[in-house]
Amino acid sequence: MNYDALIIGGGASGLAAACALSRRGRRVALLEKQNRVGRKLLSTGNGRCNLTNLNASAGNYHGSRQAAQAALRAWPPRRVMAFFEELGIPCTADEAGRVYPMSNQAASVLDALRLCCDEQGVDTRINFAVVRLERSGRGFEAVSQEGERVRGRCALVCTGGLAAPKLGASGEGYRLLEALGHGISPRFAAIAPLKTPPEAVRGLKGIRAEGELTLLVDGNDVRREAGEALFAEYGVSGIAAMQLARQAAEALRAGRRCALRLNFVPGEDAAKLLARRAEQLPARKLEDFLNGIVPKRLGQALVKAAGLDLTLAAGELKPGQLKKLADCLGGWTLPVTGTQDFDQAQVTAGGAILKDFDTRSMQSLRTPGLFAAGEVLDVDGDCGGFNLQWAWSSALMAAEGIDAIINGESGNR
Ligand SMILES: Cc1cc2nc3c(=O)[nH]c(=O)nc-3n(C[C@H](O)[C@H](O)[C@H](O)COP(=O)(O)OP(=O)(O)OC[C@H]3O[C@@H](n4cnc5c(N)ncnc54)[C@H](O)[C@@H]3O)c2cc1C
Repeated sequence: MNYDALIIGGGASGLAAACALSRRGRRVALLEKQNRVGRKLLSTGNGRCNLTNLNASAGNYHGSRQAAQAALRAWPPRRVMAFFEELGIPCTADEAGRVYPMSNQAASVLDALRLCCDEQGVDTRINFAVVRLERSGRGFEAVSQEGERVRGRCALVCTGGLAAPKLGASGEGYRLLEALGHGISPRFAAIAPLKTPPEAVRGLKGIRAEGELTLLVDGNDVRREAGEALFAEYGVSGIAAMQLARQAAEALRAGRRCALRLNFVPGEDAAKLLARRAEQLPARKLEDFLNGIVPKRLGQALVKAAGLDLTLAAGELKPGQLKKLADCLGGWTLPVTGTQDFDQAQVTAGGAILKDFDTRSMQSLRTPGLFAAGEVLDVDGDCGGFNLQWAWSSALMAAEGIDAIINGESGNR
């Protein structure tokens, strides 16, 4: 059978495009290399699937902001929500604009997409790893690892990026696009934990503390995030730290110096707070002095970072010592030596370069009839629903582009 569209990759983008095209009556083959579609989707939003964000704007995106802007214009979050409503997934938003399915279950989002594909007759082929995508007459042929061939008029590459290889990311899509004339920009992990010298965080593994995290590049504040710092043996994780990873990775790649400043008492004057406390609890040993403000082990780490002896009593502290401790409580600064790799990242920065695509339709400018969408392209978003918003919106634009080609040709027959 000759399909109207070969969709390579049954993740977020591929499933959305398959639904949209099949609902318009197009014959679609969805080719997925794993033994099930949408595996990564199940893990999104801690199993709740943060599927878009009402406050999405180009500023939430990196790589080609222009492409992100075009996709937001064509498929803004409200239109994406309406798409899901039509599939039977009503959505709700939290105070930060993060949108979730009303069920709070990523599985229900995947089911809705899968059921739509089944109901509309999408030919879903699992265990079909596309190793080659060839031009064939006016269309394309996708070739599987086993040598099976599927033909289609248009092809949409949405094979994702390199993040979370355990969920199937492998990067073959880049090679498919390269073979058809596309450039690929360097890729690195974004939305990933930050690495610090391990001795700086020794003993803090598993400790969580609320605060304000600031990334410093060459001593200047470049981005601030409020939230939880989750300490690990290699550094700092948690959403707030992970949000800083892209800029940290970029700066480190450019040979610049990065540091993470942690303020555990945002909105408070740490010096006044500790001065009051020392007056109130003069006999309290420093090993317990910060108890109640931050977790005990973290409090002790801050005392050590201030160069103070844990056995000193608060009342014995000289003003300079109290200030050092306040500086650590309100601005503990750790060098950032890198970010964790793709296995702990949520998204890939870099990818297929957007100047080779018409960003109104995601059609290749190098190979007509070829489209791409989602993480395989050089767009990545902040944490908070922005990456799935890009995956859906770029895929739904591509579906419209493919539909227009088929429509134009059937009108000419
Ligand atoms: C743990 C985790 C949590 C996340 N949570 C969120 C969240 O809550 N909100 C949010 O916005 N973003 C989140 N993200 C990011 C989001 O999941 C991705 O940006 C999004 O899934 C990208 O969609 P995609 O379709 O481009 O790629 P994917 O969803 O990765 O799908 C690509 C598919 O292509 C298949 N494939 C690859 N190569 C081939 C081949 N050669 N042949 C056939 N098939 C192939 C893969 O097996 C895969 O199924 C999260 C990511 C992770 C890892």
